[in-house]
Amino acid sequence: MPESRQNGLLGLDIQELSQLALRYGQPEYRAHQLFDAIYPQRQGSLDAISTLPRQFVSALKSEGVEIGLPTIEKRFQSTDGTIRYLLAMADGETVETVWMPEGDGGEAGDGSEAGDNDWQRATICVSSQVGCAVNCQFCLTALLGVKRNLSAGEIVGQVTAVLNDRNVDLERQRVNIVFMGMGEPFLNYGQFMKSVRLLVEGVGFPASRMTVSTSGIVPRIVDFGGEPVRPKLAISLNAPNDAVRTQIMPINRKWNLELLMQAAREFPLRNRERITFEYVLLNGVNDQPSQAREVVELVRGVRCKVNLIALNPGPGIGFATPAEENVRKFQTLLVEAGIPAFVRKPRGRDIYAACGQLKRTVA
Ligand code: SF4
Repeated sequence: MPESRQNGLLGLDIQELSQLALRYGQPEYRAHQLFDAIYPQRQGSLDAISTLPRQFVSALKSEGVEIGLPTIEKRFQSTDGTIRYLLAMADGETVETVWMPEGDGGEAGDGSEAGDNDWQRATICVSSQVGCAVNCQFCLTALLGVKRNLSAGEIVGQVTAVLNDRNVDLERQRVNIVFMGMGEPFLNYGQFMKSVRLLVEGVGFPASRMTVSTSGIVPRIVDFGGEPVRPKLAISLNAPNDAVRTQIMPINRKWNLELLMQAAREFPLRNRERITFEYVLLNGVNDQPSQAREVVELVRGVRCKVNLIALNPGPGIGFATPAEENVRKFQTLLVEAGIPAFVRKPRGRDIYAACGQLKRTVA
């Protein structure tokens, strides 16, 4: 898998910035000035960092070094306040990042731009790869295949670019991050985890406000459980048994439900933490009452909740959205068996920003 090249300061941790300062004959504290400017202050250009001597800035720029924030190529605004961003990286590759405000301003519903500061809570959905190799049959991103991994800087850069565009003040406003955009984060594990550390130590997000979703890369779930600082875990389950799961998620051939559920049962949860199982309901495929009962048996023994998502339709996807009453019935069967289950409201369906719809659609 090709890696992205390191073309900016964004993505460097404090040790790497110290080495850089040293290389340019600068004292150690320059690394801290750079770190503060890049992460908590979210500066987009070296010229904006007033604490640095101009000579140092010129020396960096003469070698083509910049901060390296992705550029916003396009914004698609949904009637529900969701914004889908098409962001361009330094090599011209584009990924999608989605801003989902909730609250008064987030649900404008009349096609007008949601009030920038009316929202009470917001979530940023970030991508971890350009495209995706996992090939879930209900997902538009899968149609792209995978082009390359994103670097930690490109993952953090999505967050900072969107926060800057929305004028977010993290001291006052509550923002969550979900690693659920394009790509499988656990197939880009090193850069994904580095981005988590930079978001926590640098940008200022508590790890408890982040959730990563995996399609079930079992060895990485085990590694992830051992991380001292980590987001919450979501597993994209989507099926009640191996036959259905293999049909809609070919990754199940490699790590089947027995292996996946064993990893889930053994995952070291913190106090009051739960694993989220995501379950995309496909009409007539995995949405039957008998299948809800199978899911109950499958997740037994895991402290968890289930998020039900009625399929977000798209061209080239050979499945249909189930009727709302089937979704409700499925939810009721889980809840009656003592499993917290929630029906997720689709966000930004009209602009192809909803779950499984990210494929750089530009029309
Ligand atoms: S659902 Fe996630 S893991 Fe599956 S193909 Fe789409 S982006 Fe990849």
